[in-house]
Amino acid sequence: MTGARMTVARVRGLRQNSEKPATFLVASLMMFLTTGPPVQATPFAYHDYDSMVTELEGFATAFPGLAEHWTAQDLFGLPTVPDGALELEQHILRITNESLGFDKPEVLLVGVQHGDEIVSLEVCLELSRLLLESYGTDPWLTELVDRREIFVMPLANPHGFNHSRRWSPGSEGDDEDMNRDHVYDRCAPGTCSDDVSLSTVGAQAIHELARRHLFRVMLDYHGGIEIIIHPWGSPVHDMGNTESPDHNAHRTLGLRMQSFGGDYNDLSPVGTSTDLLGAVHGPLDDTGYASSWDVANSDPAWPTDGWRAAAYTIEISNQKMPPVATLGGDADLLTPGGSEDGYVPKNLRVGLAAIDIAEPYLLWTNRDTIPTTVEVDDPVTVEWQVRGCFEVDETRARYGTDPDPLNNPSAQTAAQQQTTGTPCFGTPTTFSAEVSFPSAGTYYLTPAARVDSTLLDQNNPVPPGTSPQSWLVRSRTETGTLAMNAVEPTEINTITGQTFWGAEALEIVVGDMGLIFADGFESGDTSAW
Ligand SMILES: [Zn+2]
Repeated sequence: MTGARMTVARVRGLRQNSEKPATFLVASLMMFLTTGPPVQATPFAYHDYDSMVTELEGFATAFPGLAEHWTAQDLFGLPTVPDGALELEQHILRITNESLGFDKPEVLLVGVQHGDEIVSLEVCLELSRLLLESYGTDPWLTELVDRREIFVMPLANPHGFNHSRRWSPGSEGDDEDMNRDHVYDRCAPGTCSDDVSLSTVGAQAIHELARRHLFRVMLDYHGGIEIIIHPWGSPVHDMGNTESPDHNAHRTLGLRMQSFGGDYNDLSPVGTSTDLLGAVHGPLDDTGYASSWDVANSDPAWPTDGWRAAAYTIEISNQKMPPVATLGGDADLLTPGGSEDGYVPKNLRVGLAAIDIAEPYLLWTNRDTIPTTVEVDDPVTVEWQVRGCFEVDETRARYGTDPDPLNNPSAQTAAQQQTTGTPCFGTPTTFSAEVSFPSAGTYYLTPAARVDSTLLDQNNPVPPGTSPQSWLVRSRTETGTLAMNAVEPTEINTITGQTFWGAEALEIVVGDMGLIFADGFESGDTSAW
């Protein structure tokens, strides 16, 4: 199964920097020339531990510069998990265009905290495969790999997985529930059977990632019911009102994930963990959202400064191991209700929606048609999209002679707005404006947008009077450096708030000096969409 899948991957990938024998490239090229891109679908199937490791190693080998594979044992010195003669490890895949650096919005995806909910492993693997194989061919997914740092831990509980059991080795022998083992809302010592944080290696591995990163969004995939749930989900906030200070953001993203996931076996309901599933001590969703700011309810033995993620538990399917025939296949993966839809495509799309929203980004859509030189007062039409957001509060073109036209414009076009529909996602709205330049010289031009201020709206947050705390909301409603994390000197992560977002500025020469403009990054060009 694995070998066949990798063959498909290589045919479909055709990336410039992947390592393939020349004869294989020629054969692949002939296939494209004679029949077009291969469209044969590959049905999904379940992996075991070894074949998962082979897949992850294969990603790192086939996509150098985009995928890195480690174990938590390599990175953090955590112990292996003994299982008979085996020494099991927590494997971690990082997906990002490494040539663009590592200080990018970060997203964490976790699978199989509960060892028998194995469908979550397949969603993590196939989402990773799609991102990597689509790089350079699918414009949107290429943007995500360029602009995000995506960490995937597809199998948090390999011991439970190997024994088809929910539980993990931990403080309760081999019967520890990993999703009750995180640091938020521990029960008081002696008041429940599990009052110890992070006794499982899997929970420790997630905690070590959280110490080193600043995740904007975290999805924790499970199986056994079909729901999309978010904080609050802990007994400390189970007081008749389960709305967190970021309830509006959580719900808004939850509904987008629901919609883009689609209605395979019906839409997945969206709500708080407490309301839809019940409150528990030490869940990962509340931990990932609140343990860095609601420190009064977090285990002080395990501090982090980055756990302010928009955090979700994604329950994939009513069965923890649904039949293979319901997993779906790899045709039409981006289309809700596509020809091979199933639990894996549906929940892979849920993950893509989460990755996309991590930070706003603007793209030129007609850059190839914007003239390189213009005469004074000549009208120039520019078009752009605003992405990675829910609503466009205000967008316009800004320009001037300062090389930073976003922040130092001398002129701007009239403000436009779209706060209905989905202006930022799927088939985003293309905004356009006409600009002209009043005198000869070198000008710089960018679209600018302010987005998502309604995420600040609140109903009745718990704790009362607390403003939104998530990086997701704060990074688009506040300005300046909100956080810096440098646990690893080689990977410094920052969260910088902006209330206006721009694209790579164009340089346009006005007059008849016969010069051409110098452009920015090719990744900003979506004129072929
Ligand atoms: Zn579960």
